Amino acid sequence: MKKQESSRQNLTPPAEPEGILLRDAFPILTRKVYGKPLVYLDNGATTQKPHCVIDAITEEYLNVNANVHRGVHYLSQEATRLYEEARETVRAFINARSTSEVIFTRGTTESINLVAATFGEAFMHEGDEVIVTEMEHHSNIVPWQLLQARKGIVLKVCPITDDGLLDLDALPKLFSPRTRLLACTHVSNVLGTVNPVREIIQMAHAHDVPVLIDAAQSVPHMPVDVQALDCDFLAFSGHKVYGPTGIGVLYGKEQWLDKMPPYMGGGEMIGKVSFERTTFNVLPYKFEAGTPDYVAARGLAVALDFVRFIGMDRIAAFEHELGTYAYEQLMQIEGMHIYGPGPSPVISFNLAAHGDGSSFIHHLDLGTLLDRLGIAVRTGHHCAEPLMHRLGIEGTVRASLALYNTKDDIDALVKGINRVRQMF
Ligand code: PLP
Repeated sequence: MKKQESSRQNLTPPAEPEGILLRDAFPILTRKVYGKPLVYLDNGATTQKPHCVIDAITEEYLNVNANVHRGVHYLSQEATRLYEEARETVRAFINARSTSEVIFTRGTTESINLVAATFGEAFMHEGDEVIVTEMEHHSNIVPWQLLQARKGIVLKVCPITDDGLLDLDALPKLFSPRTRLLACTHVSNVLGTVNPVREIIQMAHAHDVPVLIDAAQSVPHMPVDVQALDCDFLAFSGHKVYGPTGIGVLYGKEQWLDKMPPYMGGGEMIGKVSFERTTFNVLPYKFEAGTPDYVAARGLAVALDFVRFIGMDRIAAFEHELGTYAYEQLMQIEGMHIYGPGPSPVISFNLAAHGDGSSFIHHLDLGTLLDRLGIAVRTGHHCAEPLMHRLGIEGTVRASLALYNTKDDIDALVKGINRVRQMF
């Protein structure tokens, strides 16, 4: 415990969620690329890590490292306590009822695959239906397609409107007596659309259909309360919320998790093992086979403490304001085409190559040229190819904001885009 306190002393919250103090917490932001100051605008893909997270990871390897849940010795017990404290931090952060409902995974992708495999195993049969939306990340499409191939389930897709919103008139018509689950993103990683998940969950529950929320792009940006949402499952990734890579969370209501079979077999997830019969551990361990990434779990807990200390409401307000500034500045660029319903910390765009707007500068060219100016943005289909098809494009450039971005970052992006424009 002493060790954990010492690392948490490094967690110095800024007075305001903008500016130098906060940027100082993130050492990588001072580095240069191509001799130019780094302007990091690829936070939707992954966020940078504050000192306190880096310190917690280093400190755990320096002072604590031992396998969890396995040893009677001091270090193992200390590592186990820190791991379970991390679970409690996650529980409190998303307001789950119990730590039994918090499963550590490698990330959003693994969390969704876990549900598709085990909920699918327990509750789905040939002809049963899963509803997803047209704006899902591949990690909330392909696991269901794998289940489709295994069990013959049917995938139904809720369309989006031309404004980039979920078509809430179409959604009710997709429910049938065979609907077993609705799996939907909270925030689109391409359009920035914030889906009305509370309403959607209420609609699904009225049909006795449980709901999985992909919260990869919401947990880093806004308060998320699983009890207030009343979602049945929720998945997010540590690395998108200033935590380490290789760690994520699946929240699931105990009533479902209890009835689902294990995902993987191995150490820790068992009760008793014999060649004749094996029994399984209680929740959440039933779903955590093998040595977990206990170091990353601690790093995630410190990251969640970091954002909680700043305040998720403040982060949301700050990022909305910065997103609005970015949107307004980008819209002034000639030939700019922004996708999605409006200002958000996630802005996907293309830039016309010709005055008549007949074609776009290839997103890869635009992204590569911005990179040479020190500006890191994402290019491509953003793991959302069906959405790209719907938009009639192959890809976009995406600038995605985090709590350490500033108006200077946006101004650098706008200046960079204008420079590229002049080249074409
Ligand atoms: N869902 C959404 C909406 C995402 O944006 C991402 C990553 O970009 C994922 C899922 C997958 O997250 P991970 O690769 O951390 O599992």
